[in-house]
Amino acid sequence: MGRTAVSFLAFVLLTGMSLAAEGQEPVIMVAVYDRANMKPETLLSAEQEAGRIMNSAGVSVHWLNCQTTRHGVGDDCLNATNRETLSVTLLVKSPHPALKSEEMGYALQDRNGHGSQCSIFRSRVDEIAALAHLSSGRLLGAAIAHELGHLLKGLDSHSPEGIMSAHWYKREIQAVRRGALAFTSADIEQIHARLRQTSLASLK
Ligand SMILES: [Zn+2]
Repeated sequence: MGRTAVSFLAFVLLTGMSLAAEGQEPVIMVAVYDRANMKPETLLSAEQEAGRIMNSAGVSVHWLNCQTTRHGVGDDCLNATNRETLSVTLLVKSPHPALKSEEMGYALQDRNGHGSQCSIFRSRVDEIAALAHLSSGRLLGAAIAHELGHLLKGLDSHSPEGIMSAHWYKREIQAVRRGALAFTSADIEQIHARLRQTSLASLK
């Protein structure tokens, strides 16, 4: 990978939040919209990896795989989602020309750090995975966990190290390969503090 960096941007969008209880393990609902024609096994592997990373931060993920068609989203997913559902959209490539070619994805957040949508670019994930001789599913899973981390942490959610690093260099990519790129204890504290104040998660 050399010094090639993988970085992420936060965009601005308005969404709402409300309150949840304290003291139980949070479960977040994440709808996945595959607009990049992913191989099912790659997508499954990515969800397992992202779920494992989120679990290691004390957050369970309930995945909803939303089939996208030319006519829109499948009814099952429309009925299952609500305003607290986070969404991950997989795109073939970045729709934003202003994004640097190195960026793997972005999360949409308003000026208060609220947001529920993120996107990942398959072309960048595949390219970096090939360069690093890494499974696309594992890298995609780590990228999804990173973007969910933005949505869960709120404003200024990049960290100096770990999975919320703004740039992934050789060290981070090697950690992805080992399944060792994780949230820091400060990330985890911030995620749980914020989940206690919102209704993004249900509790089990
Ligand atoms: Zn980021």
